[in-house]
Amino acid sequence: MKVAVFTGVGEITLREEPDPVPGPDQVVIEVAACGICTFERRLFAGDKQWYPVAPGHEASGVVIEVGTSVADRPGSPKVGDRVAMDLLTRCGTCGPCRRGKSNLCRARQGRVLSDGTVSFGGFAGKIALDAKSVYPVGDASLIHTAMCEPIACCVHSLRQGGFRSRDRVAIVGGGLMGRIHMAIARVEGAGSIGVIDVSEERLAEATAAGADWVATPEQALEVGGKQDVVVVCAMGGVDLAVEIADVGGTVVLYSAFDKEVPATVGADKSHREEVAIVGAFQQTPDDWRDASAYLKAGVLADDLEALVTATFPFSQVEEALRLVTSEPTYRVFVQPEHD
Ligand SMILES: [Zn+2]
Ligand SMILES: [Zn+2]
Repeated sequence: MKVAVFTGVGEITLREEPDPVPGPDQVVIEVAACGICTFERRLFAGDKQWYPVAPGHEASGVVIEVGTSVADRPGSPKVGDRVAMDLLTRCGTCGPCRRGKSNLCRARQGRVLSDGTVSFGGFAGKIALDAKSVYPVGDASLIHTAMCEPIACCVHSLRQGGFRSRDRVAIVGGGLMGRIHMAIARVEGAGSIGVIDVSEERLAEATAAGADWVATPEQALEVGGKQDVVVVCAMGGVDLAVEIADVGGTVVLYSAFDKEVPATVGADKSHREEVAIVGAFQQTPDDWRDASAYLKAGVLADDLEALVTATFPFSQVEEALRLVTSEPTYRVFVQPEHD
């Protein structure tokens, strides 16, 4: 099978690797699609220099082989199932894992290629994974299913924010993650959903996708008013988020931030108004369960379809990376060819 290995700034090599064999608790999946996320974009652009590495952590596929121990296990993926994949392991023994916070596992890791190169597994023809990390999605689109990882991240984020139906939700940043938050909040019965962005184009697209209100940061409070949950999916906007959080509201720091960016709420405001700032990082198996259930039920299908910017065959993985490093996109996908 072929694996895409990032070998330097702007350099990708398609390498031949042996097909994976399932361990007793594993299944083998033929990869159908893998999304290009910030991690891959930064590697390709040289903002993060870690070579060689085989990235790709937002993948979907079809089960083609099942290990002996999980063949008849209830809920375990079967041959032919369309699936989403949680590609990083959770050790189960570190402090956070023992507390049920395996999204914060101190030892999350991928796998290695035959020469020891670190591989996440998504930019490859096939992958062997523990059955417990593989989530069937019924007859959902395999391109949509490649967004299960970001969906699970957003499920986690709204959980962190204490989101409940009828809450007023504002999202700072109308990119892919903002739009997925918006779609989930709608499905879960948000009272209203607003999107705040500096880009008029992004605001127009959020309106078309069903946002109740959109605003630039300067107009946000006037247009949308106070909010119960504010999710920051942009590199900035933390102060704005705290400003528009209502009494009892929560600000979720979803985005990655520069190390020196502060996030503060006055002690008195935090005490008297119970305004809280919480972080949200990656996902737990519980979040994957909900995310895959949304895919299976098809309730996000229209939202996800609007976020598919382009798909490329595996042989054009470099062109796909060039697209995401040259202009704003929602999600671009690479699809391995199978014979
Ligand atoms: Zn990602
Ligand atoms: Zn752990």
